[in-house]
Amino acid sequence: MGALREFVADILESEGAAIEPVEPDGLEVLAPEPLRAAMGWPEFARLGFGAALPAGAMPIGLEGDWLDRFGALLGERGRFAERQLVVAGNAAAPSDPERLLDRALELPNAVWRLHDAKPAWTRCLLLAFRYTAISDEKREGLVWLGFNQGTGAVMDGDILGRLRTLLASVVDWHAPEPDARRAAGAGWDATTLAARVLPLVEHHVGRDLEPFLNAMRRRLDRDRGRIHEYHDDLRRTAQMKLAALGSAPGEKAEADRKRETMRVAAIEREYAAKLDDLRHNYALRATVDWMQGLTLFAPVHRYDLLIKRRKGERIIRIDWHPAIRMIEPPSCDWGLGVGRARLVCDDRLHLTDLSGQAPCPSCGKAWCRACHPAACPRCGRAA
Ligand SMILES: [Zn+2]
Ligand SMILES: [Zn+2]
Repeated sequence: MGALREFVADILESEGAAIEPVEPDGLEVLAPEPLRAAMGWPEFARLGFGAALPAGAMPIGLEGDWLDRFGALLGERGRFAERQLVVAGNAAAPSDPERLLDRALELPNAVWRLHDAKPAWTRCLLLAFRYTAISDEKREGLVWLGFNQGTGAVMDGDILGRLRTLLASVVDWHAPEPDARRAAGAGWDATTLAARVLPLVEHHVGRDLEPFLNAMRRRLDRDRGRIHEYHDDLRRTAQMKLAALGSAPGEKAEADRKRETMRVAAIEREYAAKLDDLRHNYALRATVDWMQGLTLFAPVHRYDLLIKRRKGERIIRIDWHPAIRMIEPPSCDWGLGVGRARLVCDDRLHLTDLSGQAPCPSCGKAWCRACHPAACPRCGRAA
């Protein structure tokens, strides 16, 4: 079955309809009253999803308002779910964890030592956001974020991609068992979640929209250039006429001078108005909405690492995910937490993005943004 037909079959069944696949690529639907009213269908409807329709079928596709109507049927259902990842018992832990961790970690100013390794359960959070950007054109898209709440790591790029592919391919849905839930521990509170999610959403949406914004800027520059060239020509011609009139005496010359002066002023006004139109036409409005969330209880192989920096030391956790046979990047106390490089601060051994220990642009002192998020501790310059 095609993906759309499958989706429609699922949602109609959940609304109490009896459905029967018909070929080519269609469904026969016996719809109960509320569904009939919601969709504007008769009791018996035949739907077609492909280029070739079954006899007498109504064509259903991505165009038109079909998705909105099915979305309205769904309402708020399916926005949030919990699931347990079941991994075959033969997924052995990595044989050489030191080598694995060496690839996972990049700590230019600290050393680490493997302290402990054991199987564990963790709680991952996968979130989908939809963005819409409108200027002279429109762009929509989805971004997915993933966090391991047990370690604090961001599950990004390949890890998230492979995990989502795996989840989509495993049809059996396992509700979390109480033991796994207990072992995985509590999730983040709303404040922590917001602090982690917002910058990362911004980062991903910004990155997705970059080509769109660049193309928009090119069109804006091109239009602005054209408008300038057109009005500049007009104004130059009028000014040349004005110059040619010089300071010749007489009423006619005076009237001509006045007319050309007014013409120049009118051209300038029109130019300003055209620029205003352009500004309005290219103004960018972007919105981002949370669409879907999944809490995933996943079995992991957990490594406790002892991080050492000067006289300090600290334990951090890194999880290896047997379901996708991948290790996470290290957690991050300040910054986006993407990539694998972290700097470690002197005082409390925070792990930060490289910019989290950068020198103060004002006094030059390098300082830890996780220790002092608001301002430079030496000169007070706001971060
Ligand atoms: Zn710090
Ligand atoms: Zn400073």
